[in-house]
Amino acid sequence: MFACTGYATESADQPLGPFNFERRDVGPTDVKIDIAYCGVCHSDLHQARNEWKNTVYPCLPGHEIVGRVAEVGAEVTKFKVGQLAGVGCMVESCRECASCRDGLEQYCENGFVATYNGVEKQTGKTTFGGYSKAVVVDQDFVLRLPENLELAAVAPLLCAGITTYSPLRRWKVGPGQKVGVVGLGGLGHMAVKLAHAMGAHVVLFTTSPNKVEDAKKLGADEVVISKDKEQMGAHASSFDFILDCVAANHDINEYIELLKRDATLCQVGAPEDPLAVAVFSLIFKRRNFAGSLIGGIAETQEMLDFCGEHGIVSDIEMIPMQDIETAYARMLKSDVKYRFVIDMKSLDGAAAA
Ligand code: NAP
Ligand code: ZN
Ligand code: ZN
Repeated sequence: MFACTGYATESADQPLGPFNFERRDVGPTDVKIDIAYCGVCHSDLHQARNEWKNTVYPCLPGHEIVGRVAEVGAEVTKFKVGQLAGVGCMVESCRECASCRDGLEQYCENGFVATYNGVEKQTGKTTFGGYSKAVVVDQDFVLRLPENLELAAVAPLLCAGITTYSPLRRWKVGPGQKVGVVGLGGLGHMAVKLAHAMGAHVVLFTTSPNKVEDAKKLGADEVVISKDKEQMGAHASSFDFILDCVAANHDINEYIELLKRDATLCQVGAPEDPLAVAVFSLIFKRRNFAGSLIGGIAETQEMLDFCGEHGIVSDIEMIPMQDIETAYARMLKSDVKYRFVIDMKSLDGAAAA
């Protein structure tokens, strides 16, 4: 084991603060990454505050991790010291079940090991995430990063990027299609960029009138203020696909009404309470209401390569680790443009007493 520092919280109602802990030593197939930046996902906030009712404390969030390889195990073939590397939401899975064999480790039937709040296979201890100086991960769950993109702005691709890329691919979004994205936050702004790059006609739904111009710059062809019933009604039964990226409770039936016959509303936003579905609007047009969870390792690599080719990164606001609670507060006010990224240099000298 080696000593590491990060930011964690001891309970749902306490702020995150400096935290000293130990990481496992680098095993034969492990890669140690010195973390340069870590994105701030709304899931980090849900988890730190136990909104999904499954948090194990202390909780050290962060699953949009980028940095350089500091050390590799004797049997590592995929990475070399000094190379850029990333880690997303998973660090291990059973590798044997039908989902794992299909490259869909996120749906591992035995449960994948989450980057934080999971149970580390190698030690049996709770996993600690990317709000820290370093991480040790098996090479099969480490991603190669494009060299041509700004590193800090690549970090959010590891969750927000893949979580939106995967359903856009699964529902075959492309030219000639009208695609809706609900909510312009971390996930939503990546969905707009990716769907635009895939050639779709992109319509962004927002509750924030001040985001209209930004959304167009990010790649939206049209922007709808979702509180305006008239604007919403004008799009009735016209969408091929809608991706809902909203973190809070809201009326999804307003969006289901906008789908064509047989089209799908896919939920990636994960509010803590159940969402009510008016089944008649599904029945009468054979519409689908679906969900999607991050993406597999191979697809995450495909997404990173796609972003490298198309020059796609996240629009970020860099923060020091010490400002995490302010960032969470702004996130709750939908005041994120459009992803906070923590500069891990700010952790130097921040070790807990
Ligand atoms: P975020 O940056 O906070 O963005 C959420 C956006 O939702 C806001 O910017 C806002 O957009 C909209 N919104 C917020 N409150 C709203 C309300 N009351 N009514 C309507 N719209 C509202 O969050 P994020 O990091 O993108 O994450 C979004 C959600 O996805 C979270 O629940 C997160 O846990 C979940 N998630 C799921 C997966 C998965 O695998 N399925 C992966 C990662 C994250 P506007 O200002 O434009 O309205
Ligand atoms: Zn996330
Ligand atoms: Zn499995």
